Amino acid sequence: MITKFIKRILRRDPMIKHTQANNTGVPKRIPKKSHRIDPHLLSKNAVKVTDTLQEAGYEAFIVGGAVRDLVLGIGPKDFDVATNATPDQVQRLFRKARLIGRRFQIVHVTFFGKGHPEIIEVSTFRAWLDNAGDHVAESGRILRDNVWGSQGEDAARRDFTINAMYYDPASETILDYHGGMIDMQKKTLRMIGNPTKRYREDPVRMLRAIRFAAKTGFTLDSETRAPIAELGELLQDVPSARIFDEILKLLMSGYSWAAIQGLRNAGLHHGLLPLLDHILDNSEASKGANDFVKLALANTDQRIQSGKSVSAGFLFATLLWPDLLKNWKANISKGMANIPALHDAMDDTIATQSSGMTIQRRFESDMREIWSMQPRFEKRVGRYPYRLIESPRFRAGYDFMLLRCATGEQNPALGEWWTSFIAADPTVQEELMASAKNELGSAANAPAKRRRRKKPKSDTPSEPTPV
Ligand code: ATP
Ligand code: MG
Repeated sequence: MITKFIKRILRRDPMIKHTQANNTGVPKRIPKKSHRIDPHLLSKNAVKVTDTLQEAGYEAFIVGGAVRDLVLGIGPKDFDVATNATPDQVQRLFRKARLIGRRFQIVHVTFFGKGHPEIIEVSTFRAWLDNAGDHVAESGRILRDNVWGSQGEDAARRDFTINAMYYDPASETILDYHGGMIDMQKKTLRMIGNPTKRYREDPVRMLRAIRFAAKTGFTLDSETRAPIAELGELLQDVPSARIFDEILKLLMSGYSWAAIQGLRNAGLHHGLLPLLDHILDNSEASKGANDFVKLALANTDQRIQSGKSVSAGFLFATLLWPDLLKNWKANISKGMANIPALHDAMDDTIATQSSGMTIQRRFESDMREIWSMQPRFEKRVGRYPYRLIESPRFRAGYDFMLLRCATGEQNPALGEWWTSFIAADPTVQEELMASAKNELGSAANAPAKRRRRKKPKSDTPSEPTPV
């Protein structure tokens, strides 16, 4: 009987099994009338997960960024759940549940509905690793993270006070261990614990600080901000793939321009992100590049804020375009033909960027497609326009070309022509092609074959205009 009871306790409360108690305080309980979370903003699936776990006798809460966003009145883009059930115990309760990760083991519970499948990320309360020997590198960076703990410990190891609140949909109560709610009211982003130590544990928290400040419009508390100037270089030790993920989140936050300004103000952009170096350089020479990237980011932010999707390949293609144009132009002045000059410039641009943060391969191929489509927009006779429209990435290439038109780097009439061409019926398309010969310098429109006979290399569209 006693053994059975002990077994039950061990199963229900995994922290007893793994860590000794650590006094991390008592949470403040915040009732509905104070937090005013609109239940309509909750994901039904997230609530299903907390309900199922609670019915099985475990503790379960919506946690992290979702609670922060709910309190701000924003619909969270994803929902995380924290529980005292171990990953194995969670997995047993759901049909579509998968164990993910090694360093930080979590369970993905997937729900299939009308639209995209929704994944609810379920993590087990983690222990607070203070001086945990082999869990921590010499620099203070945490290497392993699978020691279960109490909810209080779990709260203490989160990054910012506003990211460490736990919401129980059943009782509609928030548990707040670190004054997150007060910071929400004060619009302050405050690191839990000693900021220097927390940045040393995980330097990516510096990038997260900038991202959340941009997203929420909150001010970084002075003690949270101060160490960043000195510790920025620790980001060099972080694996490139992690930096890439974080920068991608930053660029896709819907507040990318503000976040990039934030990086500059915090001195975090140098070296780490060569592509941002010149974007953030305010010199007269960089003005064109700045204008292009600024417009691209403003467009991206607008799309994301209105719930539209944005491709990361497209985004990186725009960020690197000013560099690419410079290299392309330089190759042409060295005597290379237009298209080989472009392809060579693409290789150079990607290689230079990779010396800082490597852009993942799957995005790289999108970027190359978007770029190599650009000269093809200038050929507007015969089969060329039809073939271009059939390219799988046509839409992205077209949007990219429109962006170039909007900054004046490409002739706006070209953008207008294509917009009409896409919408037109075949007769009007023929008329448009006929009219294209007289517009925008007819040499660029002549079929490649005919011109190649007259003059080698002249199948090139007009020279790229450097930004
Ligand atoms: P969003 O998903 O809107 O970008 P988020 O706060 O949900 O923001 P996630 O990266 O999804 O960010 O992380 C979920 C939660 O996990 C965070 O709110 C925070 O509590 C915790 N967390 C994530 N990364 C870290 C980190 N590097 N250090 C400490 N806690 C972290
Ligand atoms: Mg999240």
